[in-house]
Amino acid sequence: MTGAADCLFCKIVRGEIPSRKVHEDEDVLAFHDVRPQAPVHFLMIPREHVPTLYDASMAQQRAFGKMLALAGELARKEGATDGFRTIINTGRVGHQEGYHVHMPVIGGPDPLGPMILRRK
Ligand SMILES: [Zn+2]
Repeated sequence: MTGAADCLFCKIVRGEIPSRKVHEDEDVLAFHDVRPQAPVHFLMIPREHVPTLYDASMAQQRAFGKMLALAGELARKEGATDGFRTIINTGRVGHQEGYHVHMPVIGGPDPLGPMILRRK
């Protein structure tokens, strides 16, 4: 489990690691995945370091609400105009990679498979 200091996603929030941003405001950041699994593939994260959904609380409701509320608008803007998928993997069982809650938005143009496991 990593803290905010050495968290990859916090480094992206702080600009220590460059990212291709899709959206940015005071609560959330959205940026393109460096290893896209589909033509549209970006990640939405809260700016605040929240390791997993187990650690989420009502204190972060604005950030998590925004992630869902903006997903469709951003997906459409990025070209996923006929559907997309969001997933929040949590913990070992959920195959979470990177312990800062992140919500991928993955989309077409072709229909996705039943599940997406990242190709190594
Ligand atoms: Zn973090």
